[in-house]
Amino acid sequence: MASHITQSPDETRILAAQWAASLPAGTVIQLRGDLGAGKTTFVQGMAQGLGCDTVPTSPTFSLLHEYPGKTLTLFHWDLYRLGESTDWNQLDLADQLPGNGITVVEWPERYPGPWPDRVIPIHLRFNGQDNREIQIG
Ligand code: ADP
Ligand code: MG
Repeated sequence: MASHITQSPDETRILAAQWAASLPAGTVIQLRGDLGAGKTTFVQGMAQGLGCDTVPTSPTFSLLHEYPGKTLTLFHWDLYRLGESTDWNQLDLADQLPGNGITVVEWPERYPGPWPDRVIPIHLRFNGQDNREIQIG
């Protein structure tokens, strides 16, 4: 487990990019933190690190966005709306976790499971203004 402090959105992106570049195929990440903590910003950095052409945004209507990278695809889930409009019984996340890419899930607490045995938890915390604490692992 490692804890980092970032002082700007770009610092968060750089941290995420460097970290994501070394991840093996099949990695699943749970990204926790309050609204505005920087989860999507972190995912943008991951996309940079994986060589994706498109900048991730918060998926408004679709739960899943896919961003093809240089060798791996980034699968970005945002489960914020789960429970409001979607029946999680109809969502077999585990079934859709591909082995050929990197999966990152915002609001993982909205999905009761099942999760794969090995997931990497990341926690982002608001530290005032542009300061964030990012705990990986
Ligand atoms: P979430 O997905 O957790 O709701 P977002 O990444 O969409 O959060 O938004 C985070 C907001 O906080 C953005 O407006 C971003 O510019 C701002 N921000 C300020 N400082 C940081 C930082 N150090 N890391 C990440 N985001 C930051
Ligand atoms: Mg978000």
